[in-house]
Amino acid sequence: MLKNQTWKSFHIDDFNDLKEKAYKVARIMINKKHDNRWLDKYIDQFAPSSTVWLFEDVILLYVKYHNNNITKDEAISCLESMESKYLEGEKLLRKVMGFHIAINEAFKKEDKEYGEVTFECPFCEGAAYAKRLHTPNNFAHKTTIRAKCSNCGHNVMN
Ligand SMILES: [Zn+2]
Repeated sequence: MLKNQTWKSFHIDDFNDLKEKAYKVARIMINKKHDNRWLDKYIDQFAPSSTVWLFEDVILLYVKYHNNNITKDEAISCLESMESKYLEGEKLLRKVMGFHIAINEAFKKEDKEYGEVTFECPFCEGAAYAKRLHTPNNFAHKTTIRAKCSNCGHNVMN
C-alpha cells in the first residue's frame, strides 16, 4: 500500500443500493471476461472497510451464480445472510456515532473544549462521563477522548 494513495469514495444508501451496484460490476466482469485479479484491483481503489468487503462478496456471488457454481436458492440464502450482516454493521455504526454525538453535545453545553464532562448515555440513559485531553505530541490524535457509561459499560477511546 502506498502511503500517499488517495481513495475513491465508496458510498451506498442501503443494502439494495449495494446489490444494484454490485450487480453492475458483476455484469462488467462477466461481459468483458475479467478475472478476480481485475476485481481485486477494482476493489483496491476504495478505502478498506467492512462495507467494501461485503460489496466484493456480493459481486463474487453474482458471478458465481452466473457461472452456475451455485443454485438460485443458495444465492438467495447467501444474499440474505449478507444483508443481515450489513444491517448489524449499520446498527453498530449508528450506536458508535450516537455516543460520539452525545460527547460533543456535552462539551458544547458546558462550553468546554477540554476537560471532563458528564452526560446521559444515549443507549441506556445511565450516567456517562467523557474526558477530552489536548495531546499535541501524539502524532495520530491531537485530541484524546476517553468516555464510558457507568451503567452499560459502553466506552470510547481514541
Ligand atoms: Zn449506557
